[in-house]
Amino acid sequence: MNQANQSAVRELSHFIDGQRAAGASGQFADVFDPAQGRVSARVPVANVAEVDAAVAAAKAAFPAWSETAPLKRARLMFKFKELLEAHADELAELITRDHGKLFEDAKGEVVRGIEIVEFACGIPNLLKTDFTDQSVGGMDAWNLRQPVGVAVGVTPFNFPVVVPCWMFVMAAATGNTFILKPSERTPSASIRLAELFIEAGFPKGVFNVVHGSKAVVDALMGHPDVAAISAVASTPVAEYIYSESAKRGKRVQALGSAKNHLVVMPDANLNQTVEAVINSAYGSAGERCMATSVVVAVGSVGDELIERLAPRVRSLRIGDGMEPDLDMGPLISDTHRAKVLGYIEAGVAAGARLVVDGRGHTVAGHEAGFFLGGSLFDDVKPDMRIYREEIFGPVLSVVRVPDLASAIALVNAHELGNCVSLFTSDGSAARAFSRQIQVGMVGINVPSPVPSAWHSFGGWKRSLFGDHHAYGEEAVRFYTRYKSVMQRWPDSISKGAEFAMPVAR
Ligand code: NAD
Repeated sequence: MNQANQSAVRELSHFIDGQRAAGASGQFADVFDPAQGRVSARVPVANVAEVDAAVAAAKAAFPAWSETAPLKRARLMFKFKELLEAHADELAELITRDHGKLFEDAKGEVVRGIEIVEFACGIPNLLKTDFTDQSVGGMDAWNLRQPVGVAVGVTPFNFPVVVPCWMFVMAAATGNTFILKPSERTPSASIRLAELFIEAGFPKGVFNVVHGSKAVVDALMGHPDVAAISAVASTPVAEYIYSESAKRGKRVQALGSAKNHLVVMPDANLNQTVEAVINSAYGSAGERCMATSVVVAVGSVGDELIERLAPRVRSLRIGDGMEPDLDMGPLISDTHRAKVLGYIEAGVAAGARLVVDGRGHTVAGHEAGFFLGGSLFDDVKPDMRIYREEIFGPVLSVVRVPDLASAIALVNAHELGNCVSLFTSDGSAARAFSRQIQVGMVGINVPSPVPSAWHSFGGWKRSLFGDHHAYGEEAVRFYTRYKSVMQRWPDSISKGAEFAMPVAR
């Protein structure tokens, strides 16, 4: 983007039935450039007629798309992958401008989105099902996985490309049509994704985008032609979307908040551990659902860990994500920064020891930007708010426990269970930990263990509502309905009516 474009306020649009659709409601929400702290775009808020138009487009596209051979869908995915690769820098810049994360980090996000597309390129094989020859004499049995219909995705601000890809890519590959309701705070990339999807050759109406917030989500959940909802949000919102959708008989999965622990054993390699913690806790300004937010120091390791972490946190390089050689950018909004500051104050008031204080951090030339330095608390106790609640900012808490069993008990008692890590050199401790821990994603000497595209992503407890995790084979199951077929042909029926239950003899 050139300088002139950067200071102009862009007007965004919906994407309905294969093309951009200017907002018709007259209502807009401001999108900020967090590094500058100024409005960079206006995103239209859809009214009921616009939601209806998106659902109608998706519904109209469904019959032909669901009948399209999986191999043909896969060929379009190959083309889409090429376009994402060709436009990776452009998409990454849109992410950084809306969100504030580092450009290199945003590029990494685009790559993770491409990996979902690569997985979806194998959809003919993934949709293959089981067949039983001679299930009962003269009868064969098999199952089908058929698309559910019109699916909706509701996504959070922190991953404007990859989280939508978890949803629309897998939904379309499995034969569904889709409506994305992106975060109103980071909406820009969604429109480019939709345009590239059309350019790849997908039929119009297969992927639509409507903007807005609660009212638009409510309209989508309440729409009789919507069959499935996938949401990624904070836990209260995820729980609301889950219960409202389930009540209406929709298929629903809703991934929620996180409070990720990283347990450090006294035998851990501390050089590796410190690097892992710094990256995982402060990367993307702590606004990742896989960010480490609590270090659990086992036994004697706490003092040395604090001693090594503190200088690293103090020297984090913070600035505009489009500039090189930085460690983190700004927070998403002024309101969110105020919320994170509130947590730091609550931690101090509750008696935790603030070893590094990131409050008051400014970046020269970006005085209005939503910046905050990294903060580090020691002596955090499980009853403190900074331990119990998700902060979603560059604030790390250290809790000290005497042994591994206490660490496991601590993690298991937390109401959230997105991901967890253990740093150790003891294989049997690692094995016991990964079996006993009540958390959906586990890393052994791996921080932020985001599963590859062919595994699946999701937490336990109040970090996920629903039965399926996101992407991978779990997504194939979520976006398809199971049908069992039994078949017998006339010469075996000629024996006449049978009144007993058919059984194999
Ligand atoms: P958010 O809950 O504010 O918003 C998420 C989405 O829900 C947005 O599209 C928003 O418009 C919509 N929404 C907001 N309020 C709503 C309401 N009352 N009813 C219906 N829809 C509503 O979350 P956010 O601040 O954009 O994202 C950060 C949160 O998302 C964090 O809690 C983070 O842990 C979570 N998250 C979780 C995962 C995961 O995989 N578990 C991944 C990314 C982010």
